[in-house]
Amino acid sequence: MQELIRQEEIINDIATQISRHKIHSAVKVKFKVGRLTNITEKVLLDLFIKAVGRNNLQPDMAIEIEWMPARLKCNSCGASAETGYVCPACKSEDLKVISGEEFFLENVYY
Ligand SMILES: [Zn+2]
Repeated sequence: MQELIRQEEIINDIATQISRHKIHSAVKVKFKVGRLTNITEKVLLDLFIKAVGRNNLQPDMAIEIEWMPARLKCNSCGASAETGYVCPACKSEDLKVISGEEFFLENVYY
């Protein structure tokens, strides 16, 4: 639930940003979303439409999502991993997220 509130906040920020950029004439918006955010395409779409308002959008406006892969790095041995909570090399649980938590508006197309 906490995660969803954070997502709503981000989408509201984005809606504020793009309301300055004539969102009603946009034909496409592109988001970059990390694999670790738990956001699905449907959640993103629902939150976005809720924040911006369907009446403010072109009926056929497209939402494109570029999924960013998850990358973790072990703080103990320096090995990298794509998923999981344990280092594949040394079994340490001390992993740092390098990427995969991104969530932002990349571009608006008119
Ligand atoms: Zn390790």
